[in-house]
Amino acid sequence: MASSFIFSDWPPHLTDAQQSYLTQLATTYALAHGLLYLPPSSSSSTPAPTSAIHAPLSILPSPFPRNLFQNALRLQKIYNVLYARIALDEEFLDTVMGEVAQVDEFTGQLWRSWKTLRDEGITEDYHLGIFRSDYLLHAPKDSTAPISLKQVEFNTISSSFGALSDCASSLHNYLLEATNYFGLSPYLTKDNLPPNGATNTVVEGLAAAHKAYGVHDAYILFVVQPGERNVFDQRWLEYELLERHNIHVVRQTFDDLRTNASLSPSRVLTLRNALPSSTSGSSDTIEISVVYYRAGYTPKDYPAPSHYALRETLSRSRAINCPTLALQLAGGKKVQQVLTKEGVLERFLLQSPKYTGTETAEARSSGPGEFTPADVALIRSTWVDMWCLSDPDPPDGVTQALAHHASLVLKPQREGGGNNIYHSSIPSFLSSLPASALPAWIAMRLIEPPQGLGGYLVRAGSGESNAARKDVVSELGVFGWALFGGPRKEGGVVRQGDGGWLVRTKGRESDEGGVAVGFSVLDSVLLVD
Ligand code: ADP
Ligand code: MG
Repeated sequence: MASSFIFSDWPPHLTDAQQSYLTQLATTYALAHGLLYLPPSSSSSTPAPTSAIHAPLSILPSPFPRNLFQNALRLQKIYNVLYARIALDEEFLDTVMGEVAQVDEFTGQLWRSWKTLRDEGITEDYHLGIFRSDYLLHAPKDSTAPISLKQVEFNTISSSFGALSDCASSLHNYLLEATNYFGLSPYLTKDNLPPNGATNTVVEGLAAAHKAYGVHDAYILFVVQPGERNVFDQRWLEYELLERHNIHVVRQTFDDLRTNASLSPSRVLTLRNALPSSTSGSSDTIEISVVYYRAGYTPKDYPAPSHYALRETLSRSRAINCPTLALQLAGGKKVQQVLTKEGVLERFLLQSPKYTGTETAEARSSGPGEFTPADVALIRSTWVDMWCLSDPDPPDGVTQALAHHASLVLKPQREGGGNNIYHSSIPSFLSSLPASALPAWIAMRLIEPPQGLGGYLVRAGSGESNAARKDVVSELGVFGWALFGGPRKEGGVVRQGDGGWLVRTKGRESDEGGVAVGFSVLDSVLLVD
């Protein structure tokens, strides 16, 4: 059913008094319920933090067509298996990312480490993927086509904001309960605020990997960036792991690990126990079951060659890496582009005898089981045109990009925001890009979110002074996980799970959308028909 909701009518008008009342309730709730960042100048290590600020937030949820939201959730079960199969397909990854590795230093480092480990024969360990597939609504100005769902990117490393997104959902539920939003909109009802559960999904994935490793007293290692301000999003996972699964977490930066981590001859990863001895029991080392990277997705995390060497050591260990090097490479934007080529998705989902029937019964019962052409069509319906700048077929990739630059974004193989080149900046950028770098860049059609949609956004720690009505764009992220590979090496998924989502809303004037980098705020879904 096509949505009849009129996006440009949203949000309902709030008087100044209503706006400041809601902002006061929202920021107080955020501070009381852990929807928080550390303040800008603080360090995440010693001395212990003494204050926090509320995260950037939206005081109203953002409208999303119910049928498209349900499709996005449904797609996740397919994506969990698809990306597991990609990560296990060495030949495919070698062809696609091996080529990028020749021209892009960061991809090259990761790919060469992966190759080294394969040459050593280390291919039989489990992979854990914690994924987030990101979407925008597409409603081109001059088209009568119904509004649709389009994928922005698929994240396989450091998929963040699961926990804070749960808090943002609770916040909007609370504001509705507390004020009924002054009866301003018939859409603002409990039934239209879908349940979230992203924290649970991420924690379930980590706990499943810990269990597969098989040493209950081992710790899960969170590899974190120095000075991380988004610590509460990570700590919530830690608290849940401890309280609900009795699993301990240790947080370390790459620099900490350079002095604290070691590998036994049988590849068991241990850390020097950082706890004061009176509380740490008898052992002065702890064994690591799972390495969960909330760092390592950007070259900035590897300032020296020894950081890459450390990543290789962690990957060599028997601890289950989330993600493995293969899975991080599978998340490359180049893979996203190659999947859109004719027959590639079909090979992974429908035609590969290598995979058919390899998922365990448990994975099949929680996922889609065998895939159908309808699944493939649903996935393809969410993709926009993409090509590689080094595509040779006439008109070649660069010529096409120049011709269509006004409706394109160019993306390198990077994560974390701030790396893309948008529309009007494309021609001058292309004129300075050496031909040798072209294989590392993809061109992607710009998705056109509904025009005239507004929101009331509150910046991090700003209280009510900066609550502002803005023209906005909302990006939906859907969480899922898969545990796959492993000693039986059947190639399939052992377990998977999904559920939970994130909405980030940004001012329309910004091309980029990161929350942590200050472009957008945490939001939630309001289902509309
Ligand atoms: P990163 O890995 O840095 O997060 P993304 O591919 O997610 O890179 O792009 C960053 C942001 O740029 C997105 O969150 C979105 O707001 C915007 N963006 C990316 N691709 C498109 C697109 N095809 N159309 C419209 N906006 C896009
Ligand atoms: Mg992104």
